[in-house]
Amino acid sequence: MTTRRPFIGGNWKMNTERASASSLVRGVIDGLVGLQGVDVAVFPPFPYLLTVGSILRERGSAVRLGAQDAYFEPDGAFTGEVSLAMLRDCGVSVVLTGHSERRHILGEGETIVHLKTKAVLDAGLECILCVGEKLDEREEGRTDSVNEEQVRLGLRDVPAEQVDRLTIAYEPVWAIGTGRTASPADAQDAQMKIRRVLTDLYGKDHASRIRIMYGGSVKASNARELFAQPDVDGGLIGGASLKASDFVAIVRAAVAGA
Ligand code: PEP
Repeated sequence: MTTRRPFIGGNWKMNTERASASSLVRGVIDGLVGLQGVDVAVFPPFPYLLTVGSILRERGSAVRLGAQDAYFEPDGAFTGEVSLAMLRDCGVSVVLTGHSERRHILGEGETIVHLKTKAVLDAGLECILCVGEKLDEREEGRTDSVNEEQVRLGLRDVPAEQVDRLTIAYEPVWAIGTGRTASPADAQDAQMKIRRVLTDLYGKDHASRIRIMYGGSVKASNARELFAQPDVDGGLIGGASLKASDFVAIVRAAVAGA
């Protein structure tokens, strides 16, 4: 960990119901009372944003409300899509783009990921751009080139003034939801190289401020060692974010490793 403030996101994916989403966020809020030195966001499913957001507001919590996705057009005939203005209206301040499940299950290509990333940043919101290699790409020795390409294409035409609202999540696809985790050394190596790409794009000052999270089967038991790496500035947590005590333990590990 470094002077960058750690950032932990809980990506609830297509899980929870209204009642369980409410009790999950209450558990997170209770578990984090008094904890400082870390940014935390939760990403509930769209239908529960207002419910979760109002609990966060009522409790005066610093935990931020995030959205798992957004469409890049401002409004119009896009059945089923959700705009950034709608999300902002619901209290969302940070949006995921390029998550591997959207890339590889829902079929989002680089053009869509780029349009979404640009739209989130143009709208003045914070963006977490997710990148990461698939298993075959790793086995072919293409981890760094895949990450570089996804970072460069995702950030095409994004000006330097906007990147203080950007976080990158390095999430090797083979590690997401599989119980397999990148070793701390492998995560550090990939994330150091991603920071080199950011330095090439935006210069050292900007690149040194951009947070790079690790995601992929992070648990309370492996979080501390991962977050201790100099270029690992926190984590994007899927499965372990669905149990408040596990998620809180991961947030605490980020503070301990900072
Ligand atoms: C994710 O959803 O971004 C993720 C990393 O999931 P998991 O922690 O379950 O691997």
